[in-house]
Amino acid sequence: MKPIQMVDLKGQYQKIKTQIDASIQDVIESAAFINGPEVKSFQKELEEYLNVKHVIPCANGTDALQIAMMSLGLEQGDEVITADFTFAATVEVIALLKLTPVLVDVEKDTFNIDIDALKKAITPKTKAIVPVHLFGQCANMEALLEVAKEHNLFIIEDNAQAIGADYIFSDGTTKKAGTMGDVGTTSFFPSKNLGCYGDGGAIFTNNDELAYTLRGIVNHGMYKRYYHDVVGVNSRLDSIQATVLRAKLPNLDDYCNARRKVAEYYNNAFADSNNIITPVTSNFTTHVFHQYTLNLVGVDRDALHQHLLDNGIPNAIYYPVPLHSQKAYADDRYNEEDFKVTNSLIKSVISLPMHTEFEEDQLQFITQTILNFINN
Ligand SMILES: *Cc1c(COP(=O)(O)O)cnc(C)c1O
Repeated sequence: MKPIQMVDLKGQYQKIKTQIDASIQDVIESAAFINGPEVKSFQKELEEYLNVKHVIPCANGTDALQIAMMSLGLEQGDEVITADFTFAATVEVIALLKLTPVLVDVEKDTFNIDIDALKKAITPKTKAIVPVHLFGQCANMEALLEVAKEHNLFIIEDNAQAIGADYIFSDGTTKKAGTMGDVGTTSFFPSKNLGCYGDGGAIFTNNDELAYTLRGIVNHGMYKRYYHDVVGVNSRLDSIQATVLRAKLPNLDDYCNARRKVAEYYNNAFADSNNIITPVTSNFTTHVFHQYTLNLVGVDRDALHQHLLDNGIPNAIYYPVPLHSQKAYADDRYNEEDFKVTNSLIKSVISLPMHTEFEEDQLQFITQTILNFINN
């Protein structure tokens, strides 16, 4: 059996090596390293794939969130609501911009933002909601869009983990994750579902005016060369990353399907266990399994974590600490009673190896090792 990896980037590269090597070489020969034609072409191709009017490439997923928030004219003290159970980047940029983060609990089956908790958190100061499409499936966008409309709030979708997922509206129409709110953001960090070979990110919008604003902000607030209308940042996707992404984008649906197959293998293997809750997919979204995360019942999660490591099976705890309990984001306003689900999930979840390059004996070994541990 080949050694098991949490994410097998080398194996994925081997399959497209000829194309990737040649296109990187071409970028080097062209010397168009920044804002070259590769970046423009990738932008167009991603717009087409996502069926969105504007893609604005940038340097990483955290920048994408920050720039998206900068584009909306929010002011110090405005409240921005996001989920308590996620990666810190989302709340980090809210705080950096001197906006007030408001964390709310998540649903225990999908791990996505809880709509009732969100509604309770809305105040006259609330200006925006940042749903995170966690682990690869969409949050309840139809409900979120309704709440946003009613209270006149912006929606920024943090789509770093669900690129390629489809949202199915109740009238049967579908949209790609990240293209439903006012702005959507993503990350091309190497281990994301569409990863480059360094850092990268992008912002999506269907709003022409916002797109114009965003393109200026990523480029030092310049709309005309050396005229700085607003305070911007320097956030660019470079041409080498763009060319890697161009090679990988046509495979994204295949990559998502490969992940779904792995998820199906895991689901079947664990179907009869009373100690394992396998991922629950909402009926309004497809799942692209950025992570495959189990919720354990009556199992010593930390002991299983160590047991798997001892057997050469990498695994991870996403996320071990709720954001509202992090030193940087703790606040007297928060009441532990309001975070029952997150406080419980952090003790019971475990994410298994998930990527596009598995061999069956590896999956068999992973699932058998887990079942043996739990049943003994
Ligand atoms: C990865 C990730 C980010 C940050 O992306 P970077 O490219 O690493 O800056 C933001 N939000 C979520 C939910 C992520 O998973």
